[in-house]
Amino acid sequence: MTDCIFCKIVSGDIPGDIVYQDEDVLAFRDLNPQAPTHILIIPKKHISTINDIQPEDAELIGKMYLAASQIAKQEGIAEPGYRAVMNCNREAGQTVFHIHLHLLGGRPMSWPPG
Ligand code: AMP
Repeated sequence: MTDCIFCKIVSGDIPGDIVYQDEDVLAFRDLNPQAPTHILIIPKKHISTINDIQPEDAELIGKMYLAASQIAKQEGIAEPGYRAVMNCNREAGQTVFHIHLHLLGGRPMSWPPG
């Protein structure tokens, strides 16, 4: 997608503070962190929202969570705990329409979220 900001980070047209990547998945630090650790984990393939995930994407989505687990260990937040959350559409607060898993940690989190 030529007008997608996260596709531009995948292609290298926009810089990202990249902490992990493999063939299918990229992870970089959020520009506006909401916790001491705030990393976005995205598929390199463009998928706009959770609603657009197809059955053939199941392995890819699983790889995003495997990356989250690995990055959490790297960042030292695996044992104390962290949140991995994906917003879908307007009412959930999605602002970038290329799916991304927010990996948040380094502080206590409240529940339910606002
Ligand atoms: P969401 O509101 O769930 O769509 O989350 C979008 C996230 O992307 C926000 O937390 C933004 O701070 C973050 N963001 C937007 N542009 C960039 C960028 N160029 N690099 C890193 N994070 C970004």
